[in-house]
Amino acid sequence: MKFSRVKRLTSFILICTICLTCGCTRLSFQKTVTPGNSVSGLYFDTAISITAYDDTSLEVLKDTLGRCEDYELIFSRTNENSELYAINHRTGGVIEGDKYTVEVSEDMYNVLNIALKYSKETELAFNPTLGSVIKLWDYHSDNPVVPSEVEIEKALKFTNPYVMDISGELFEETNEHYLSLPMDETIIDLGAIAKGYIADELKDYLQDKGCREAVITLGGNVYCIGCKGGAGYTVGIQKPFDSKGATQMTVNISDSSVVTSGIYERYFETDGKIYHHIIDGSTGYPVDNELASVTVICSDSMKADVLSTALLCMGSEKGLEYAKRDPSIHVIMITRDGEVLDSERNG
Ligand code: ADP
Ligand code: MG
Repeated sequence: MKFSRVKRLTSFILICTICLTCGCTRLSFQKTVTPGNSVSGLYFDTAISITAYDDTSLEVLKDTLGRCEDYELIFSRTNENSELYAINHRTGGVIEGDKYTVEVSEDMYNVLNIALKYSKETELAFNPTLGSVIKLWDYHSDNPVVPSEVEIEKALKFTNPYVMDISGELFEETNEHYLSLPMDETIIDLGAIAKGYIADELKDYLQDKGCREAVITLGGNVYCIGCKGGAGYTVGIQKPFDSKGATQMTVNISDSSVVTSGIYERYFETDGKIYHHIIDGSTGYPVDNELASVTVICSDSMKADVLSTALLCMGSEKGLEYAKRDPSIHVIMITRDGEVLDSERNG
């Protein structure tokens, strides 16, 4: 993952117990729920917090948060000690001719497989092999520059996700997983999927420990466990380009994830033009359409993460069509003009 600065919290929880109904119970069962224990930290340059709305102990929350360190050491593109860094630098494996093969962790195997599935389903709007292009857009720099067309043209040659050859469970009893890649400049970047995977994993871990009501926030990825005593959680959707915390609207959810991808999250401005961090894989440039943000609500946070990025790349028309075909997602788009488009509203 590449995060150039601590992310603003695009979605944030409004601590209130309003709202009439929620997914798992009715108004008559509502009770006021106040936050319990809470922990926060900074991993993959992202502000992370976990707040329980039941009696989950601080120890359990700390253990859950601590797992982020393990995930950073798997999925970070820039951390030199990560599994992904080794893959992208073709170390730690076996090289035969033009082919590099390495044993990968189960987490990496899972994410790469699902990443390939979504590459196909979104017709490459989501592409986990844009690393060679993403690396050219240096949002870290104090004086970021627009890469040259020649550089972009060259980098685009190494963005075919289907060069990844993933094989799992070669030996059933040892449960080994392997990845093969060509010895070229293909770079895997999981910045648009890993946080969703981690949110789902943290949620499962917390629930295994008996937690029934909690909110996990990883930057723009929020997972709400339970239904906050019947009221549901009220999650704010950031007003694009406004001050942190300014909400365009709120949604009330239970047992679901809310993920927002926005072009205002990380960008630089040159000659009055905004260059942001969501890349159109067909051009190598930041996506340039009418959308400012896409929020996806879904019980599967990884799916919400992938699709918030992919639908933003598709644009409003194609993105809404996609959303309406899939009943497991609710999509809210905000255009650069401030218009709200909702996949659950007619029209
Ligand atoms: P955020 O990281 O702000 O939550 P996203 O989930 O939309 O936002 O992921 C954006 C990140 O994913 C970028 O920083 C980059 O690492 C990577 N990325 C950018 N464009 C794409 C794309 N079209 N497909 C897959 N990954 C992308
Ligand atoms: Mg995403």
